[in-house]
Amino acid sequence: MQASNSENPNYPELVRQIKDWARELGFADARISRAELPAEAGERLVAWLEAGYHGEMDYMARHGQLRVRPAELVPGALSVVSLRMHYWPAEAKSSDAVLANGNAAYISRYALGRDYHKVVRNRLQKLADRLAETIQPLGYRVFTDSAPIAEVALAAQAGLGWRGKHTLLLNKGQGSLFFLGELVTDLPLPPDESEAEHCGRCTRCLDVCPTGAIVEPYTVDARRCISYLTIELKGAIPEPLRPLIGNRVYGCDDCQLACPWNRFAVHTAEPDFAVRHGLDDVSLVELFGWSENEFKTRMAGSPIYRIGYLKWLSNIAVGLGNAPTSDVVIAVLMARADHPDELVREPTRWALARHGVEPG
Ligand code: SF4
Ligand code: SF4
Repeated sequence: MQASNSENPNYPELVRQIKDWARELGFADARISRAELPAEAGERLVAWLEAGYHGEMDYMARHGQLRVRPAELVPGALSVVSLRMHYWPAEAKSSDAVLANGNAAYISRYALGRDYHKVVRNRLQKLADRLAETIQPLGYRVFTDSAPIAEVALAAQAGLGWRGKHTLLLNKGQGSLFFLGELVTDLPLPPDESEAEHCGRCTRCLDVCPTGAIVEPYTVDARRCISYLTIELKGAIPEPLRPLIGNRVYGCDDCQLACPWNRFAVHTAEPDFAVRHGLDDVSLVELFGWSENEFKTRMAGSPIYRIGYLKWLSNIAVGLGNAPTSDVVIAVLMARADHPDELVREPTRWALARHGVEPG
């Protein structure tokens, strides 16, 4: 049966089509929820903001309740299609091996290839285009990792998985190593059932977090989270947290790596998420030696580009401060000990002090 171009569309059939299109476009799954969240979602967000857990992410506070009210983002919105796309490249070197090597740089496995914002957004737009060819008029907006929408809560409500104690979405059959995206629309699509949570008594993500950022189940203090500290925070990583960060220079996967459900994690089939520039297994020394030009050329099209060269060096300096002492580590740090920018100079000098060297 066709859902197309009818004054009275067959919405269950349309949902089946949306799910087929989503899979054709490389999404692992698509599910539907109503474009509203229960009041508790808003209360949880307010409590989190009031505790200051968002750190310097002012946009979180600015958008406030908008995040939990998708209907206010799109006039007349009735439904949200939540989608997920796997990002874990099969060829990436084992995370455990890289994390155990103090001379290597650990980069979150989602950031080894091209910028997911562009890839996921582009596919969402294609999905919306197909929908708009079938149903007119169509009011919609697409989102991926965009500030104003509570995407994990919506995805959980749609039954795409459940919100784990580390606050990310988990899928029973396929783990958590995927991106989320949303298509908010004014169509009255029949919603899917939500899924029960399956964390049970497990606390592995809380136990393993290097900085104790998961302050209680389902609550992350971003100010302690390495993903925030290495990506969102504009300044240098606060000194007390530096020794805990190890060699993680862009993002952190520890809570996901420890999660038992990720034994079912699925590799990506997306060429855009394939490892570029050997970032899955590269030394801190090599990365710290990149010129600004090299950074800009190599990281063009990567999510890493967005943090900028100076923050990149600042993070790597911290990693080098935690690396085993060696002549080459000291030599590369010395070469930047008088860097004109404080964001680089200060952690570089901190790192040298960790190796017992006074730069003078
Ligand atoms: S990403 Fe890393 S630092 Fe952040 S909560 Fe997970 S384990 Fe902790
Ligand atoms: S590690 Fe355990 S508690 Fe944390 S998200 Fe996974 S199943 Fe839930």
